[in-house]
Amino acid sequence: MSISEKIKTLHTELPTHVTLVAVSKTKPVADLQEAYDAGQRIFGENKIQEMTEKWEVLPKDISWHMIGHVQRNKVKYMAEFVDLIHGVDNFKLLREINKQAKKHDRIIKCLLQIKIAEEDSKFGMSAEDAATLLASDECKELENIAIVGLMGMATFTDDETQVKKEFKHLKNTFDSLQPKHTSLEIISMGMSGDYELAIATGSNMVRIGSSIFGSRNYTSAI
Ligand SMILES: *Cc1c(COP(=O)(O)O)cnc(C)c1O
Repeated sequence: MSISEKIKTLHTELPTHVTLVAVSKTKPVADLQEAYDAGQRIFGENKIQEMTEKWEVLPKDISWHMIGHVQRNKVKYMAEFVDLIHGVDNFKLLREINKQAKKHDRIIKCLLQIKIAEEDSKFGMSAEDAATLLASDECKELENIAIVGLMGMATFTDDETQVKKEFKHLKNTFDSLQPKHTSLEIISMGMSGDYELAIATGSNMVRIGSSIFGSRNYTSAI
């Protein structure tokens, strides 16, 4: 199937309450344009420089999502245009995003990344840390960010029971925080290999890359 057919199929098959983020990292601009022409408007990238280069040349009604780990000193390069940052896992980063958003007179939406995987390598904060952060006065003072949900990445494994348990943990964390923090609306979980399970467990935003664009070759430039 072509990129365009994949996008159209996903748009038809995903439940209407689920938002599709097309993960286009490492893929050339022509591939993103094909997805755009098929109706896709949300793209996810994990490197700020690559995302910026693509933003410069592609249509301006694209919503750009930063899905990778963010270094604080690089926030300034995407503050002008990034729509949603998925991987926020500490207060210092949030403060920097707020500062850079303010310079552009914008509000940047953020998701708190919760560590749900058992593997050590994944970034993220605990459910308790997220609750503390959301309740803090310092957080409420940040006027140029909006925390609109949670994001998580499950362990990379074939063990569905394990993955489901981790997704459930994110959903439960969301359900425990949401009544007090009603701006939380998004649960970003699920990738090419596990998005159906993620949706069944409560995800309303999936980040799909290789199922749309094919497998990634990390040596190719954009
Ligand atoms: C690369 C990436 C994805 C997409 O992965 P696929 O398996 O290609 O769908 C989703 N989320 C994050 C955070 C990623 O880095």
